[in-house]
Amino acid sequence: MMYTYGTKVFTKLKGYYGEKEECLCCHKVYKKAYVKYTKWCHFNEIPLFPINVTYYKMCPICGDSVGLKGKQAKSEMVATDATETQQLEAYAKHILANKPKGFMSVDSSYEFYVKDLSTNEEICVATNLTKDMVKDMKKERGLKNFKIIDA
Ligand SMILES: [Zn+2]
Repeated sequence: MMYTYGTKVFTKLKGYYGEKEECLCCHKVYKKAYVKYTKWCHFNEIPLFPINVTYYKMCPICGDSVGLKGKQAKSEMVATDATETQQLEAYAKHILANKPKGFMSVDSSYEFYVKDLSTNEEICVATNLTKDMVKDMKKERGLKNFKIIDA
């Protein structure tokens, strides 16, 4: 019988807060996403207790982010004006035409998009991704209900 202790990070998008501001990286103007990162101690893959919590204040388009302590993040989230909402949807496309034919070749034909549901603008965030890279981006942004569309 093998016993394993370790840590695992769970992420969750809490919402979009604050004023709309221009991102210094991608120059898009949106409210920032607040993503909660909770590190859990686990025993045989069963989460036992949380060890620490960090928030990331993140550009919802390109993912550029800064870390915040929980207390600071919460006070910024509470202070926000909730009347102006922001609806974004992130998803990936698997560009089948670009899929490599070779059996062992790495399939890097995934693209990551964010769509602004109020303007219907579709913004391409990254191309030439592998499925694992897409999964990492999804986790980084704390997304659930994420779909990969065959295109
Ligand atoms: Zn950005």
